[in-house]
Amino acid sequence: MEIEKLCKDIRQRAFERKDPKTPEQVGASWYNDDLTYNGVSKTLFVILPTPGCAWALGDSGGCTMCSYVSDCTLEPIDSETILRIFNEHLQRHPISEEDKISVKLFASGSFLNPYELPKDARDQILQTLVELGNVTEIIVESRPEYVKEDVLDEIFEIIGDTLFEVSIGLETSNDYTRLKKINKGFTKQDFEDAVKLMQKLSKEKGYNLKSKAYIFVKPILISEAQAIEEAIETARYCNSIGVNRVSFCPATIHGGTVIERLWRQGAYQPPWIWSCIEIINTVREELEIPALLDTSGFGSRRGPYNCKKCNKDLKHMIIANNLTQSKIEYDCECKKEWLAEIENSDMNSSTVEIKHIPLY
Ligand code: SF4
Ligand SMILES: [Zn+2]
Repeated sequence: MEIEKLCKDIRQRAFERKDPKTPEQVGASWYNDDLTYNGVSKTLFVILPTPGCAWALGDSGGCTMCSYVSDCTLEPIDSETILRIFNEHLQRHPISEEDKISVKLFASGSFLNPYELPKDARDQILQTLVELGNVTEIIVESRPEYVKEDVLDEIFEIIGDTLFEVSIGLETSNDYTRLKKINKGFTKQDFEDAVKLMQKLSKEKGYNLKSKAYIFVKPILISEAQAIEEAIETARYCNSIGVNRVSFCPATIHGGTVIERLWRQGAYQPPWIWSCIEIINTVREELEIPALLDTSGFGSRRGPYNCKKCNKDLKHMIIANNLTQSKIEYDCECKKEWLAEIENSDMNSSTVEIKHIPLY
């Protein structure tokens, strides 16, 4: 498939330009307030050292917008090293001061894939978290093909009734966009099967298992208006099949990706922040499930952008309103430029920012 060849080629060049990281360089952590299933509470975020996403390391070259694999070791890491780095990060934060905390474990790929995170390391990490006594939620990420009953059985044997959320990068409910423009390599049906399996295990085995969908805002070769529509449509779909939460990830330009190649050639621009606000406000008004909006890269040259006057204010508002789940009410002069773009981008079939049309 053409898109896979292009991804593989660009990924290969990126690997040649950059040395892989050491496990110590990959490991990272931070400690913040976040919206949990129990309201706002302290959350520990840990990036585990891993070789990198199997999808990106394989023949497909990975997804068109993702460069996580460039921040990994590319080589297997022994479990002892993973655990040492994990424990070092655990000790950096005052987590014992809280009654309840949530822990998000990022594997820069699939936490549930034993080739990315060996089972013995996974078991020991979960055991350590359970023994802390105050961890009420554990959140991980995985592609749907690794959401399997035997793996979830192994996990719940250790974590008991602790809440366990699996976040899956569905990105869009549109199969054509996901397969041909994102190069995700799985279908909506694959995602739905994983969600249904989790729902079945919750019901039949009593697992405290939740699902979250990541929704990517503005893949390549899509106009601003289509990007808004598709993201909202995807949230409606997730709600309809009983996904527990959705998280919107607006595009930012990562190095060594297909999206970067198009952006450098002037054929792609990340979404307006107004588009992201339109999406989150519509979803919060229309749907009951919690909806989060990621603000990584907002206001930067490579991220979602409005204008110098409002970028920062809006970023802060979005972060605050993720916790309260309220709508974003704000105005700025640049809004009319955004409106001109979304009202006209479909008319001239352009996927790039429109700068020269009359704004009246
Ligand atoms: S978006 Fe997820 S599945 Fe795709 S390459 Fe990145 S980590 Fe892998
Ligand atoms: Zn503005």
